[in-house]
Amino acid sequence: TYILAIESSCDDTSAAVLLNGKVLSNVVATQKIHEEYGGVVPELASRAHQQNIVPVVHMALDKANIGKKELSAIAFTSGPGLLGSLLVGTSFAKSLALGLNIPLIEVNHMQAHILAHFIEEENFDKPTFPFLAMTISGGHTQIIRVDNYFDMTVIGETIDDAVGEAFDKSAKILGLPYPGGPLIDKYAGEGDPKAFRFPKPKVDGLNFSFSGLKTSILYFTQKHTAENSAFIEENLRDICASIQYTIVNILMDKLKKASKETGIRQIAIGGGVSANSGIRNALKEAEKKYGWKTFIPKFEYTTDNAAMIGITGYLKYREKDFSEQTVTAKARFKV
Ligand code: ATP
Ligand code: FE
Repeated sequence: TYILAIESSCDDTSAAVLLNGKVLSNVVATQKIHEEYGGVVPELASRAHQQNIVPVVHMALDKANIGKKELSAIAFTSGPGLLGSLLVGTSFAKSLALGLNIPLIEVNHMQAHILAHFIEEENFDKPTFPFLAMTISGGHTQIIRVDNYFDMTVIGETIDDAVGEAFDKSAKILGLPYPGGPLIDKYAGEGDPKAFRFPKPKVDGLNFSFSGLKTSILYFTQKHTAENSAFIEENLRDICASIQYTIVNILMDKLKKASKETGIRQIAIGGGVSANSGIRNALKEAEKKYGWKTFIPKFEYTTDNAAMIGITGYLKYREKDFSEQTVTAKARFKV
């Protein structure tokens, strides 16, 4: 079964070809245009998707070394995400499926961040059901109980900012370019995580909150910069390490609580922030400390990519869970 998958929910245009759940190609065109604005500009994103989608799909087919006629189905992200961006991938997928007369499969982007763990990959174990998944990305922060591929229950989520936003907004305060998450991670590796202390939010149950952290980092830098204008520059590594340490602790506290409450000790992470070395290390430690088995996706399957859309499409293909031509893009789409 050859699946062509298309992802266009935010600022990455991506296409992938999978053969029976194995990735033959996974092409990602990252839009550079947003850097100078310090965040994703929706109108520019959808315009760039329109320019990128045809060459990206061709490249994915070329790399997989197959022709359009060999495709079994087309999977695409129908949501959640930016509506204008989603519309580009949705209309492209619909017309191609119609033209080739093959099944069309809509995919929920957040389910795909989790199901990326089922990509056929050597030396990577797959979780078994039930497991807990923590989706940590630019738009979401959730803890999900996964009882089957498409039987997922959100048991905790952020009540304000997503964790990726917390990274990016903190980076912006420090004068780092967008997206700042990977840069905080980089500098954190050379700093002292206990140099500065930032308060942890008090949120009930398994929910998260990150907006207070951003405010406290802003006050912290304003206060010190007033005394020493080079404060950020001189302490960048320690500040980044301390921010990352705080964020990782917030995530791990809730994961521990979720594991305790459900009795589930298989823990998977997904989404762009699962590229973060702090959270990766904390999970590895938790394997020894709490007897967890943790699942960390391969780097290229953490941030937005079509391979994860492809594996989700393949799992739906096996169930003959196809979509009609009336399917629409949806900015909001619950798992
Ligand atoms: P969603 O999946 O919720 O729709 P999205 O698709 O925009 O959001 P992803 O591409 O999954 O988000 O993740 C992007 C986020 O991941 C950005 O906020 C980015 O800063 C963050 N990120 C990527 N790498 C790292 C890292 N090494 N450390 C911290 N954050 C990171
Ligand atoms: Fe994403």
